[in-house]
Amino acid sequence: MYSLDQIPQTVFMPPPTQLARPPLENTHSRPRWQQELAQAIRRPELLLRALEIDNHDLFRHKPNFEMLVPQSYVARIRKSDPRDPLLLQVLPQHGETVLSSGYAADPVGDLAAMASPGLIHKYQGRVLLLLTGACAIHCRYCFRQHFPYSANVRRTRWDDWLATIRADSSIHEVIFSGGDPLNLDDARLAELALQLAEIPHLRTLRIHSRLPVVLPSRVTEELLSWLTGTRLRLVMVVHANHPQEIDGEVAGALRRIKAAGVLLLNQSVLLRAINDSPETLAALSYALFEADTLPYYLHLLDRVQGARHFEVPEDEALGLMQALRARLPGYLLPRLVKEQAGEQGKTPI
Ligand SMILES: *Cc1c(COP(=O)(O)O)cnc(C)c1O
Ligand code: SF4
Repeated sequence: MYSLDQIPQTVFMPPPTQLARPPLENTHSRPRWQQELAQAIRRPELLLRALEIDNHDLFRHKPNFEMLVPQSYVARIRKSDPRDPLLLQVLPQHGETVLSSGYAADPVGDLAAMASPGLIHKYQGRVLLLLTGACAIHCRYCFRQHFPYSANVRRTRWDDWLATIRADSSIHEVIFSGGDPLNLDDARLAELALQLAEIPHLRTLRIHSRLPVVLPSRVTEELLSWLTGTRLRLVMVVHANHPQEIDGEVAGALRRIKAAGVLLLNQSVLLRAINDSPETLAALSYALFEADTLPYYLHLLDRVQGARHFEVPEDEALGLMQALRARLPGYLLPRLVKEQAGEQGKTPI
């Protein structure tokens, strides 16, 4: 497992345009995406320096949830713009230190729904597996940022999960989640997919990952090969919030996933000052469509402690959806949902 603790401290990297691209296939060292992950920026002052922003008031506190941004994502952030919608998703800001009532450490009730460590069986027919606590980026609004991964993920036993799934024939879909499940290497993922495919009542394997958007080099031949090789129906739900996240390389990576026979969907979080306008959301839907990806969910923010400054209230969100419906064909309209602890599914708004 590739855990956060194993990633070395950041070395500042020049922008990708100044780097010679290593060959895609290099069997003698770690894959390129793992090298890029190891070189992700972890210090806000280095990020701001790379972006030519000198407002140091932006990051004066030390966050509990460390900053983490790979260079390929930094390359999509506009220089000298402290309001850039990608920068706001990753840069620790003062709002995080504000304690607000009604905002919790586990807003969606994941801990209560944990049947065995790392296995969440909250919704009928579908189980979610927390394969790792590690992500390739730390989204400041993340509802899992205070989640006790060390207790629930590090001591997981795949055998226990497989036994639970085998014993319950009502389960037809397994969701790889985390953290980010694609932080694991393909050999391990392929092995788990193989064991799951042997369970006769399982029909679908779903992967929830932000990696194809954050680090498109993660979409390797090895990944596409085990995706293509399983008998299970495949669904991948990626996570982009703003059209600027989908550059040519990301679009290419998404198209390759789709071409491997995967139903490819996107979920977004509605975020104040990042994507809270019908123009931005419509542009996101079209950028996804160009990349063979369909909008699935638009989530209202989960009320996680320290994320209040990102919240868009429900009535405003409904107004946005109305404006969006007027602009987009039905197949490009995401479903506005909210996750509520103890509910049988996501609650449509
Ligand atoms: C969102 C979620 C799912 C999947 O829900 P869908 O509506 O099928 O996308 C499953 N389990 C958990 C715990 C979830 O949060
Ligand atoms: S990639 Fe997903 S799980 Fe990881 S920090 Fe971002 S929102 Fe949270």
